[in-house]
Amino acid sequence: MSRKVLVVGEVRDGSLRNVSYETIAAGKTVAEGGEVVGVLIGDAVKDLGKDMIQYGADRVAVVEDEKLKSYSSDGFSQALLAVIESEKPDGILIGHTALGKDLAPKVAAKLDAGLISDATAVESAGEHVVFTRPIYSGKAFEKKIITDGIIFATIRPNNISPLEKDESRTGDIETVDAGIKDLRAIIKEVVRKVSEGVDLSEAKVIVSGGRGVKSADGFKPLKELADVLGGAVGASRGACDAGYCDYSLQIGQTGKVVTPDLYIACGISGAIQHLAGMSNSKVIVAINKDPEANIFNVADYGIVGDLFEVVPLLTEEIKKLKV
Ligand code: FAD
Repeated sequence: MSRKVLVVGEVRDGSLRNVSYETIAAGKTVAEGGEVVGVLIGDAVKDLGKDMIQYGADRVAVVEDEKLKSYSSDGFSQALLAVIESEKPDGILIGHTALGKDLAPKVAAKLDAGLISDATAVESAGEHVVFTRPIYSGKAFEKKIITDGIIFATIRPNNISPLEKDESRTGDIETVDAGIKDLRAIIKEVVRKVSEGVDLSEAKVIVSGGRGVKSADGFKPLKELADVLGGAVGASRGACDAGYCDYSLQIGQTGKVVTPDLYIACGISGAIQHLAGMSNSKVIVAINKDPEANIFNVADYGIVGDLFEVVPLLTEEIKKLKV
């Protein structure tokens, strides 16, 4: 059963975020041979349409307006609803990011549509599309279908592989006039916290520190290991609460949910609230000096030892492999 599916691209610092390409791949499954239409919303974002097409979109609908320079649920929902009105899609997919988590429910409510959030896998089964999503803080998975109306879902980053980029692909990139009305709240300025290196939510490798790291300086060996692996540094809430690092690094129930290929937990006990944010990582390595630490129950590889000895050793060995 072929379908027309809208995939909303997410732009950050003038580029599409990886999750947009992953969501296009999910869109292909939902479309079942039908059309995948990329949607770009923002100010001066049209050029990125080519990227969406090279990663699998058939064509792209663009809503550009100065009022859409920064994300606002008011502005972006007006824009997306205008595209939905003109395209009349059978499905809509958005990345399960801060933007997607805000935009999708608002638009779904306006459409009176069902919404499946935080999907980690998509498959077609007969007349339905089946989405898999974690429940109970990642302790179990449920499979869900939408039985009536638009198939609307958000896709968790780092779970669905994007398609190979094909530079020979072409398609129409058309502007939709959404007639964006004045926004009720206007963002005057965005002041960013300085963060270096790889974006935590999209990192393929995360080296995370807990209270066992003992100080802000204690994070240095973790950063060195993350650097040689091309990864990012994360943290438990224990480490954030202790003032060793910024809360923007916090992983867990009340922090970021991550699913990297490799998660190295250093000096983290493995509280349920931390596991909620990382237990679906593909490979988990735990370094802890307490052999009874709960983190070892979810780890694929466990190293019982002092992180200040183990982490620099790992860094040295990985450097040797790279020479
Ligand atoms: P600890 O539990 O103190 O563990 C430190 C570990 O380091 C120990 O296992 C110890 O053996 C080990 N260690 C010490 N020294 C060394 C060394 N030299 N080498 C190796 N190992 C060493 N937590 C989160 O992480 N994320 C969340 O989003 C989150 N949300 C929460 C929400 C709520 C509502 C509540 C109530 C709690 C939440 N928490 C969250 C807190 C959570 O319950 C734990 O308190 C927290 O995860 C503990 O952090 P930790 O593992 O770093 O510290």
